[in-house]
Amino acid sequence: MEKIVSLCKRRGFIFQGSEIYGGLANTWDYGPYGTELKRNIKEAWWQANVRGRADMVGLDAAILMHPKVWEASGHTQNFSDLSVDCRNCKKRWRADHIQGKCPECGSQDLTEARIFNLMYKTYQGPVEDAANLVYLRPETAQGIFVNFLNIVDVSRKKLPFGIAQIGKSFRNEITPGNITFRTREFEQMEIEYFVRPEESKKYYEYWVQERYDWYLRLGMKKENLRLRPHDQGELAHYAKACSDIEYQFPFGWSELEGIANRGDFDLVQHSKFSGKELSYFDTNTKEKIVPYVIEPSGGVDRAALAFLVDAYYEEKVKDETRVVLKFSKELAPTKAAVLPLLKNRPEIVELAKKIYQDLRGSFACVYDDTAAIGKLYRRQDEVGTLFCLTVDVQSLEDKQVTVRDRDTMLQERISVDKLKEYFNNKLH
Ligand SMILES: [Zn+2]
Repeated sequence: MEKIVSLCKRRGFIFQGSEIYGGLANTWDYGPYGTELKRNIKEAWWQANVRGRADMVGLDAAILMHPKVWEASGHTQNFSDLSVDCRNCKKRWRADHIQGKCPECGSQDLTEARIFNLMYKTYQGPVEDAANLVYLRPETAQGIFVNFLNIVDVSRKKLPFGIAQIGKSFRNEITPGNITFRTREFEQMEIEYFVRPEESKKYYEYWVQERYDWYLRLGMKKENLRLRPHDQGELAHYAKACSDIEYQFPFGWSELEGIANRGDFDLVQHSKFSGKELSYFDTNTKEKIVPYVIEPSGGVDRAALAFLVDAYYEEKVKDETRVVLKFSKELAPTKAAVLPLLKNRPEIVELAKKIYQDLRGSFACVYDDTAAIGKLYRRQDEVGTLFCLTVDVQSLEDKQVTVRDRDTMLQERISVDKLKEYFNNKLH
């Protein structure tokens, strides 16, 4: 894991948040390559789950919501951990994570366990009093439930249909950790898929499989991915069934995504608290239905970290270690790098820059002439760039460039005017 964290920083995937001020604990900033990686993950998710389907629409709800939302959802009452404080070193711990002894200093002088709500509080408007208290949402899902009627109205979707959303959520975890795996601010990709109650088991099973396959389709190794159905004792009281998709991180098997059959709990609760009837009218059978909902809920940051870990390879090439991130073509932050073999030959640099300008409108590519070719290749391998194009002396005569494949390191000569077509075939 240390190797990956160090690569992330060295190559601009992930930085410590507020680093020049000594850092703010548990905050991380995505650098240029990390930003592209995350964006590609979200694009792939949106394409698979929204644009590529006839039964799904998107939503982008506000982070701040009416406080009653969280009463209805149960978060005000129940979204909490039991915490204990060490009187000696002042650290706070989750009561279920320690056994009567502070893991930091070993002291047994601990406070009684206290209930600690995990929602971030803030105030709406200039007056900081209880009447203006609002929360940063701890999940994106509730934005979907409170918009259920709006979306049924405007989308005219028939059951079964889904609403998808990507956005930031906040949980004031007592013990976050493992770089971006557990952070207090994080990004979710959530679907609420509304179905007839009698069909909920079928669609639950469908979504478990569909979401599991999505990670495989994006190149994740099957041996590092597993499904773990929750046993009865683990289920939330309203949930009919739940499964986690777990990834084998260097720190152990950990959850990437949960898929739950939540029954009609959320719509019923919001009907009760809002006084609005959240139901669906079937125009064929003339019956009113409160749909059940299947919720696939994944983390963007966790997915990004898992794809990074999964793509990491060290290979021996001519007695040297080659570090390479073998991202799939969809996820690779950069698809191609244009590299002039000799930067002191103006004609070569000019041709390389022209190729770069021609290509960058079609897909993510970079131009780099700041080192010798061997070093340029190594840099691109470390960020997972799929292809390197080298412009050399011969290119000036035959109007061809060398294209090197990241994974095989095989090279072929491609005519400059065929490059767009070449990449069209390779990338789609
Ligand atoms: Zn202590």
